[in-house]
Amino acid sequence: MRYISTRGKVGKIGFVDAFLMGLGDDGGLLVPEEIPVVPAAKLKEWETLSYKELMLNIFSYYTNDEIPQDDLKAMAEASYSTFRDPEVTPVRKLSDSLYLLELFHGPTFAFKDIALQFMGQLYAYVAAKRNLQIHILGATSGDTGASAIEGVRGKEGIKICILHPHQKVSKVQELQMTTVQDDNVLNLSVHGNFDDCQGLIKELFADLDFKARNRLCAINSINFVRILAQTVYYFYAYFQVKKQTGAETVDFSVPTGNFGDIFAGYLAKRMGLPVRKLIIATNENNILERFIRGGLYKPGDFKTTYSPSMDIQVASNFERYLYYLFGENPAKVAELMEGFKREGKIEVGSDILSRAQSEFDAYGVDGDECLATIKKYYAQGQGYLLDPHSSCGVAAAERCGGDGVVCISLATAHPAKFDEAIRLCGIEQTFPDAIAKLFDKPQRQKVVNASLEEVARELETFYNA
Ligand SMILES: *Cc1c(COP(=O)(O)O)cnc(C)c1O
Repeated sequence: MRYISTRGKVGKIGFVDAFLMGLGDDGGLLVPEEIPVVPAAKLKEWETLSYKELMLNIFSYYTNDEIPQDDLKAMAEASYSTFRDPEVTPVRKLSDSLYLLELFHGPTFAFKDIALQFMGQLYAYVAAKRNLQIHILGATSGDTGASAIEGVRGKEGIKICILHPHQKVSKVQELQMTTVQDDNVLNLSVHGNFDDCQGLIKELFADLDFKARNRLCAINSINFVRILAQTVYYFYAYFQVKKQTGAETVDFSVPTGNFGDIFAGYLAKRMGLPVRKLIIATNENNILERFIRGGLYKPGDFKTTYSPSMDIQVASNFERYLYYLFGENPAKVAELMEGFKREGKIEVGSDILSRAQSEFDAYGVDGDECLATIKKYYAQGQGYLLDPHSSCGVAAAERCGGDGVVCISLATAHPAKFDEAIRLCGIEQTFPDAIAKLFDKPQRQKVVNASLEEVARELETFYNA
């Protein structure tokens, strides 16, 4: 397996080099040269595997034996033994046709832990093997930062800097990032929104001199390994639900911001997992919903919502999908992305749009519907408390499904992370200990402007100290 860029000017490179490169050196995103298709007989064999075994099987298609199987196994073990549920990502029945995939049993209570616990192990492994100093740089709408920091805090050979939008993340998210006292961690709190943070990061990674000089590595979903780690739970959830319901085909509803998590679902589908529809669930920042409805990809006004981890206008991973939507044509992707930079939009014709509509459905959930859905499931049956992101997923599943096909909706965070929204529903929750403890710890962060020069200066000082 080799990796190439969606814009055609990188490659072909191996698994570890793709992991270290993060964003393609030509500004594109790295993708596997060819998506492996898992034969039906093999899928059948995978039905009974544990989460970790399944992960090793899926990764074996992508790692080219660059990492010995025993090492990979040890890393999978270390990554997922930190989870509070032995199944890692258990499914839970909400109704006959709706299942919830709980992805929040990791150390920071959000789905980002699934990929980032593993990537922390992998960075430490590669740093030791290649005798490298690794400097991780990332932007977060809240959960990626907490997860990534948790994954590498105190690790030898690694420093990490995370940019988050100042006072636009939830209190628990902020505390999870800023109460970490290890010296290899720097939090920059940026005056601006997530798109500003992501824009700064993209520019710094695109400056190849700066990137090389500071040995920058990426943990955002621009990194292909993160996507790959997330395909595992699509397979795992499908097998669990098949066992419980006999369903041969399912839909997935995915609360989406950067199109990363749902792209992992798309990859699983292309690998042969019997998925009918992938439902893009957004909040009021609904650029992806508008694209699926009308073929125009154009950022609207930024809105602050109850689901801040999805408050994103420019979805970086959308470029990966464009690459496949246009038949793996890098010249076309480069042209579209240049057009996007120039004119701020991408528009596709009706044939391409029909293809996108045959693969995805989409629904943007507004604030009232988000809270109403939380209240409804809390009051119903034995009572289930959804977090506001998972609530968007469930609301979209209800809206787009209902025709007999079982839908698996992704629960991307624990409600304790977003108590602001839960309180607005008139619900009082008890925090898990690990979260309650955060409120007594001192915070460390530096507030900066959304200025490239200012951020670059902070980084050079931190990485070279
Ligand atoms: C990051 C995040 C999302 C969105 O995931 P993407 O990969 O950006 O689409 C949804 N819900 C929660 C809780 C998140 O942290």
